[in-house]
Amino acid sequence: TDLKKLILDRVRDIPDYPRPGVVFKDISPLLADPVAFSAVVEELAGLCGGCDKVVGIEARGFILAAPVAYRERAGFVPVRKKGKLPAETLEAAYDLEYGSAVIEVHRDAFAAGDRVFIVDDVLATGGTVQATVELVRRAGASVVGAAVLMELSFLNGRERLEGVDLRSLVVV
Ligand code: 5GP
Repeated sequence: TDLKKLILDRVRDIPDYPRPGVVFKDISPLLADPVAFSAVVEELAGLCGGCDKVVGIEARGFILAAPVAYRERAGFVPVRKKGKLPAETLEAAYDLEYGSAVIEVHRDAFAAGDRVFIVDDVLATGGTVQATVELVRRAGASVVGAAVLMELSFLNGRERLEGVDLRSLVVV
């Protein structure tokens, strides 16, 4: 579709970033394009389906999730790397290619039963979204869906997200 082309034409491959052998999908050209950025935000907003809160995952997830929340008149909740949130948090650890990472959310970020929509830029191994789903549920809210701009299908991240309604604007 037009939206897929709009996205694919504005995401560039950066070889050997952040490590040798990795090809990083850089979404900066897409964010800088007013037509493409707006189209992506509108599309993501249409998937949130009357959610109460939109969760953005640090850091590029924030850029997409905040305008989606505003557009839908939902609240915005940040999920951040460990040590960045000031109040009491819940944390979840997940495996990276080398080692592990910890992300956090404020304990009081959700009201009981909140319908939560998760937004990030890229789904790679799925570990980040999986850990975010766990945090939302442990905080007493329910995940109504998740969406990413781009899914890297060769990393099989979707397999880790059974039971989550995951939508990808583009699958590569
Ligand atoms: P995962 O946990 O699915 O392996 O990795 C996804 C997380 O790492 C997302 O928060 C995403 O922002 C980041 N990430 C991993 N690979 C890429 C990439 O190639 N491009 C971008 N923009 N982000 C990536």
